[in-house]
Amino acid sequence: MAVERTISIIKPDAVAKNVIGQIYARFEGAGLKIVAARMTQLSQKTAEEFYGIHRERPFFKDLVSFMISGPVMIQVLEGDNAITKNRDLMGATDPKKAAPGTIRADFADSIDANAVHGSDGPDTAKHEIGFFFPGMDVLSR
Ligand code: ATP
Ligand code: MG
Repeated sequence: MAVERTISIIKPDAVAKNVIGQIYARFEGAGLKIVAARMTQLSQKTAEEFYGIHRERPFFKDLVSFMISGPVMIQVLEGDNAITKNRDLMGATDPKKAAPGTIRADFADSIDANAVHGSDGPDTAKHEIGFFFPGMDVLSR
């Protein structure tokens, strides 16, 4: 199995619910290591750039205003198949459709306030790691 790195963001709703530790425990329980982390409140410009791929979608404005509505916790997760493993832990985008026991099923309230972000593939992971942690290696040793 390949050791990968991926970006995870604990979104403003989950930070406000005070469940950073519970979400970190899910990562650690699945064998993912937190190798970098930073708490910040995103600017509108940063959030728009980060979710730029969704710029033309009808929900873009709401997505950006939600992402800047409070602090977020951004981390790099490392481990075997980290990208897919994190997406599996997160569950479906819409918490109503997320499998029981996933982060979104347990902590998210709506498709907007859906608790976490995770890179969706190797190219995205590489781009997002560079975006939030400039100079950081994409792969481990
Ligand atoms: P994320 O990128 O945040 O990890 P995701 O990869 O599961 O989520 P995307 O399709 O990349 O889902 O959508 C990005 C975000 O935009 C979602 O997390 C969600 O908050 C919002 N979103 C996606 N689809 C819709 C929709 N149909 N209606 C409202 N909001 C949506
Ligand atoms: Mg996505």
